[in-house]
Amino acid sequence: MTETTNLHIAVIGGGPGGYAAAFLAADLGMKVTLIDPELNPGGVCLYRGCIPSKALLHVAKLITESRDAKNLGVEFSEPKLDLPRLRSWKEGVIKKLTGGLGQLSKQRKIEYIQGKAAFENSTILRISRADGSGDSISFDRIIIATGSRPAIIPSLRLDSPRMMDSTSALDLNDVPSSLLVIGGGYIGLELGTVYAALGSKVSVVEMLPGLLPGADRDLVLPLHKRMEKIFASILLNTTVASVKEETNGIRVTFEGPEVKEREKVFDKALVSVGRKPNYEIPGLDETKVKVDQRGFIQVNKQLQTTDPSIYAIGDVVGEPMLAHKASHEGRTAVEAIAGHKVAFEPNSIPAVVFTDPEIAWCGLTETQAQRENREVKVARFPWVASGRALTLDRTEGLTKLLLDPQTERVLGVAIVGAGAGELIAEGVLAIEMGALAQDIALTIHPHPTLSETIMQSAEVFFGTSTDLYRPKPAP
Ligand SMILES: Cc1cc2nc3c(=O)[nH]c(=O)nc-3n(C[C@H](O)[C@H](O)[C@H](O)COP(=O)(O)OP(=O)(O)OC[C@H]3O[C@@H](n4cnc5c(N)ncnc54)[C@H](O)[C@@H]3O)c2cc1C
Repeated sequence: MTETTNLHIAVIGGGPGGYAAAFLAADLGMKVTLIDPELNPGGVCLYRGCIPSKALLHVAKLITESRDAKNLGVEFSEPKLDLPRLRSWKEGVIKKLTGGLGQLSKQRKIEYIQGKAAFENSTILRISRADGSGDSISFDRIIIATGSRPAIIPSLRLDSPRMMDSTSALDLNDVPSSLLVIGGGYIGLELGTVYAALGSKVSVVEMLPGLLPGADRDLVLPLHKRMEKIFASILLNTTVASVKEETNGIRVTFEGPEVKEREKVFDKALVSVGRKPNYEIPGLDETKVKVDQRGFIQVNKQLQTTDPSIYAIGDVVGEPMLAHKASHEGRTAVEAIAGHKVAFEPNSIPAVVFTDPEIAWCGLTETQAQRENREVKVARFPWVASGRALTLDRTEGLTKLLLDPQTERVLGVAIVGAGAGELIAEGVLAIEMGALAQDIALTIHPHPTLSETIMQSAEVFFGTSTDLYRPKPAP
C-alpha cells in the first residue's frame, strides 16, 4: 500500500460519510484534511438528524409507555416537562458524540478545519476558515461529502418562527398547542410522534393516499392505526395550497377530494417534504464533476465522479439518504483511492422508521417486487402469536420474509413492531450471506424474544410453525 501513504486527501463535509472516509484514510496511512463548518465532525446526522431525533423519541417512548402502563395495572401521574433540562440533555448527547469524534480525529492526526471549501479546480480547494482566514490547498484526491438539507416547496415558504423544518423542530423551543406536520414521510412522522407525546395536538397532511409512501402497506397499517390514536388527524390525498401567518397562528388552506375543513389555524407547522442534495459547492463547475437532474452528483461503483481525482459519497450522491449508507460509501471510496479492488454493491441497505411501532425493512420489498413483476413467496408471522410481544402488550407487529420461490433464498425482510429497528440487522446479515429460509428456520433463536419472529416466519414458509397453524405448501 506504499503508493497511497503519500496521498493527501481532502474530505469536504464531516457527516457520517465524511468522517468515516477521513478516519479510514488516516488509518490507511494517508494525510487527511477534513473540512466542515461545525466545531467538530458530526454533520446533519449528529447535529440535526439521527441523534437528536432519537434522543427525543426516547423521551416520547418513556412518556407513552408510562401512560400505557395503566392498561397493565400500574398508574403513573401525568409527566411534568422541564423543557430547558430536556433540551440540555439532548444537546449533551450531541456534544458527547461530536466531541468524541473530534478526539478520534485528533488521535488520527487528521487536520480538521472548521470552515467551508470551494473548488478552484479538480485538485485545489479554496478554504474559508471560521476564524475569517482562508487559503488554497492542493490535494491528490478530494472526497465530496456535503450531504443534504430540507427541501422547501415555494408555496410553503414563510419566514416565521411558527413555520419549522426538521432542524428548528429539533431545537424544541416550545411545545405548540397544535402542530401541522406537512409530509407523511419518516422525518415528519418521527417528529410528530415526539411533539404528540410532549402534548401537542398533531395533525399530519400527506398528498399521497398513504403514510410513508414507498413502504409496504401491511407494515404501515399497524402504525397508521396507532397514529390515529395519538394524532388529532391524518389527512391523506390532501395538499397544502397556502400558508399565511396570523396573530394566533398559521392559517393553512387544504386541497383534495377528501378535504372536509378547507382552512384551519395551527399554532405551528413543520414542513418535512423531503431533502435536497448539497451539490452547489462553489467552483464545482471548474471541475469535470457531473450532477444529474435531481441534483445528485454522478458516481460509479467506486464512488468516483466523472472527474478522476474527485469522489463523492452520502446524501449528495443519491437515495437512500441514510447515515449508514453514507459511511459505507465513505469506506468504499477510500479503499478505491487506496487501490483496493472494491465496489459499493450492497445486497441490502436497511431502512428504519423510528416511530411507535417502528418499521424496518431490508432487501427486496413487496412493493418493489410487485412493481418489477417479480415472483416471490411471502411468509408472515403476526406478533399476536409471539409470547414476547404479549408480555410487552405490543401484539400489533408483523414480521415477514420475501423468498425466492425456486431457491428459497431470503430476498427481503420487513418488520413492523416495537424494536423493529434493532431486529432488522439479522435480516440484513441473512441477505448479505445469501441465507436460505431453512438457515433461518434452523437457527435457534432465544426465547422469549421478538427476534424469534424472524425464525417463526421461516417456519411459516415451511408450514412447520408450532405457534401458528398454516397448511404446508403443496409439494
Ligand atoms: C431529522 C432527521 C432524522 C434523521 N434520522 C436518521 C436516522 O435515524 N438514520 C439514518 O440513517 N439517517 C437519518 N437521517 C439522515 C442522515 O442524517 C443523513 O443521511 C446523513 O447525515 C448523511 O450523511 P452525509 O455524510 O452524506 O452528510 P451530512 O450528515 O449531511 O453532512 C454533510 C456536512 O457537510 C457540510 N458541508 C456542506 N457543504 C460544505 C462545504 N462547501 N464545505 C465544508 N463543509 C460543507 C455540512 O455543513 C454538513 O456538516 C436523518 C435526517 C434528519 C434530517
